[in-house]
Amino acid sequence: PYEVLVVGSGPAGAAASIYTARKGIRTGLVGERFGGQVLDTMAIENFVSVSYTEGPRFADSLKEHVGQYDVDVVTGPAATELVPADTEGGYHTVRFGGAELQARSVVLATGARWRHMGVPGEEEYRNKGVTFCPHCDGPLFKGKRIAVIGGGNSGVEAAIDLAGVVGHVTLIEFLDEMRADQVLQDKLRSLPNVDVILSARTTEVVGDGKQVTGLRYEDRASGEARELQLEGIFVQIGLLPNTEWLKGAVELTDRGEVVVDAMGRTSVPGVLGAGDCTTVPYKQIVVAQGAGATAALSAFDHLIRTSAP
Ligand code: FAD
Repeated sequence: PYEVLVVGSGPAGAAASIYTARKGIRTGLVGERFGGQVLDTMAIENFVSVSYTEGPRFADSLKEHVGQYDVDVVTGPAATELVPADTEGGYHTVRFGGAELQARSVVLATGARWRHMGVPGEEEYRNKGVTFCPHCDGPLFKGKRIAVIGGGNSGVEAAIDLAGVVGHVTLIEFLDEMRADQVLQDKLRSLPNVDVILSARTTEVVGDGKQVTGLRYEDRASGEARELQLEGIFVQIGLLPNTEWLKGAVELTDRGEVVVDAMGRTSVPGVLGAGDCTTVPYKQIVVAQGAGATAALSAFDHLIRTSAP
């Protein structure tokens, strides 16, 4: 068995495993894809101290850095169940289908995935105008026309944020009203370069083969098909945490996020959470890595305060 088992090998899991290995703790790191969501992005310009890198290159550096330590890395298996220890300081079990691993402390770092619109053109033009991250990609659309899909808090926050960077924002909401907090809606409506379209069902991302050129939608009230000319589409219809496998084992919010405190502790002693799969506000690489370090130090704290059975 391990002393610490980190599940999920994105930025949060990589940081956690480096921190525990540096304390001489026997550490395992198991994840489906080494690098996580970073693999799906191109330009990264906000990883502080690195002014520009690209997703796959960043994932390679994560792997190389982890490789400098005595960490057992297994890439491929997906965790399917967590069985918490039945005694204080005891071994937790993580199941991967038929196989299982045990550790006195487990760091949950399985990240999240953006919900997609599921319309033609969305995948084809991903990173060619279709994007999911306003903090990351806003500056790429300086002065241009863009749409934000989704009128919840994240969509409206994104639209307010982007209105200060891009030329024009159209916010598209499926329902006949936005669900964002009123104060955010009021702020949005006060901006001169923003239009809001309600009751609109997006139907297709249109492009010229290289880049996005427009967005088709259906006006749900009249049934009419409409098209907007624009260069960017920010999809903000939800971030889904990869925590289905944790139901019943640790406390999750109604959105499925692992509930963690400031030390990364979950509802189960010795089980920590880090990064996008948790309630940590703001889903970003530097934030996830900081949380990974916090969770690792809290795992160490758990190990020195309890004894193995
Ligand atoms: P993830 O990166 O999601 O990694 C989790 C890992 O766990 C994945 O490898 C996943 O496959 C694995 N996993 C999931 N379920 C299981 C399971 N059951 N068992 C085992 N493994 C599992 N942030 C920035 O700061 N700057 C940017 O420029 C930026 N650009 C982005 C662009 C895109 C297109 C996207 C999608 C995100 C971007 N982000 C950016 C956000 C950033 O990628 C995330 O905040 C960060 O990757 C979160 O790290 P994480 O380790 O918590 O989770």
